[in-house]
Amino acid sequence: MRPTLAWFRSDLRVQDNRALAAAARQGPVVAVYLRALPHWRRHGHGANSLDFRARGVAALKATLEGLNIPLLHRDIDDFAEAPAALLAIAREFDATALHFNHEYPLDEQRRDAAVAAAFQEAGLEARGHHDSVAFAPGELLTGKGDYYGVFTPFAKAWHRRLTAERLALAATPAPQANSGIASEALPELPDLEDAPIDGRQWPAGEGPAADRLERFLRFRGRHYAKQRDFPAIRGTSELSPYLALGMISHRQCLQAVLAENDGGLAEGDAGLVVWVNELVWREFYRHVAVGFPRVCRHRPFQAHTEALAWRDDDAGFAAWCAGRTGYPIVDAAMRQLVATGWMHNRLRMITAMFLSKHLLIDWRRGEAFFLRHLVDGEFCANNGGWQWAASTGTDAAPYFRLFNPTTQSKRFDPDGAFLAEWLPALAELPAKARHAPPRELLGGIDYPAPIVDHQAARARALDAFKALKAD
Ligand code: FAD
Repeated sequence: MRPTLAWFRSDLRVQDNRALAAAARQGPVVAVYLRALPHWRRHGHGANSLDFRARGVAALKATLEGLNIPLLHRDIDDFAEAPAALLAIAREFDATALHFNHEYPLDEQRRDAAVAAAFQEAGLEARGHHDSVAFAPGELLTGKGDYYGVFTPFAKAWHRRLTAERLALAATPAPQANSGIASEALPELPDLEDAPIDGRQWPAGEGPAADRLERFLRFRGRHYAKQRDFPAIRGTSELSPYLALGMISHRQCLQAVLAENDGGLAEGDAGLVVWVNELVWREFYRHVAVGFPRVCRHRPFQAHTEALAWRDDDAGFAAWCAGRTGYPIVDAAMRQLVATGWMHNRLRMITAMFLSKHLLIDWRRGEAFFLRHLVDGEFCANNGGWQWAASTGTDAAPYFRLFNPTTQSKRFDPDGAFLAEWLPALAELPAKARHAPPRELLGGIDYPAPIVDHQAARARALDAFKALKAD
């Protein structure tokens, strides 16, 4: 029987994978992986997410081998080479069809459209599946027929229209007869100029992802609403890298919530309901990328903010990157990011607002820095989060909302425990003094004075946004 190709991208799992399940229904499966390192680098991905991805592919290969599904590996420099690479494989193995799960940023959509066109021209089938969302972009629209640009009505529509069928898990293929096609060796990730962090912090694959979900729901899920804003507490799932690369699906997460929460997603346990909402945010930003493709071209969602007079401030940017702004909560967060490849959500909001509002530095520089370091770095959520913080995006925080980092620090790290962990020098100070260390207490401690004054920075940011409004 002629084989079917399953093209894996950011869906590195065999369980609940719609493209894989569809391919397996059609015939024996040959799995394909295209590594586009130079293209991903051009997109701004750093060593952490590329290394996690590489380890995820290795784990996937081992799982596929247990099902007798061979994995073929090709290196390409550019997405433009994808159609020819895949067609060559289809011809070599006499495959009838190719299945893949959609990725939503513009460049990825274009790549997939080119692949589909090339296959059609060759008389072969190429089918995309909407796997990482409950609703395909375009399925949920406002009363006027537009894509949602505000989260709350999107989430309401999402819950209202959700059916059990949309959350049904795709079947895991049964082991197939040995096809005689051998898996190919996976090449090592070449040395990159930015070395990845120790991968043991983020073991890759479906097994570790499922363990994390289970542990989160067992120990933390019900406390999520109360604990999720406190970075010193491990109150969130830390599943973002696994969701970003599809080592676990949103359906698996939601099914686990349904089982824990008497069949409820919108009501029931407050912690679990709030957690579900975060998964809906993830989906929202995917729809935004498709509905408003300008965000994929480095443009603000709010077009009028294009004219904002961002400051050229390389020294300020360098201090922010290095965690030396003199605002301990910002600095501790940036150190967490660089050391672990992950940053707590509350801190992503604080640091992103600090860069874009206090320093009035173009949010795109911060977006790129995050992508370079985050293990979970993915375009839709990162761009959405940055534009939200900078008040240029959907649901934008009103431009006059500018977190006071010190107040945030006192509120969300009341004992200064997170500050002490990431800025050990400040651990010597009394907990209450860590949020804004007085110079006289610092003594010989090497910690910078604040690089901007909060009130002055606030006034400057408000003026810049007001100038826009006046235009
Ligand atoms: P949990 O609180 O356990 O949430 C569960 C899942 O929901 C997450 O794993 C994630 O997949 C999703 N999620 C949660 N919050 C959001 C959100 N605000 N937007 C979209 N999805 C969300 N998330 C990424 O996955 N990749 C990014 O590159 C990224 N960049 C961000 C940049 C900024 C400036 C901001 C403010 C947020 C960003 N986020 C990003 C969203 C969020 O901060 C992370 O998803 C979350 O902190 C991951 O931790 P967790 O897995 O413990 O999340």
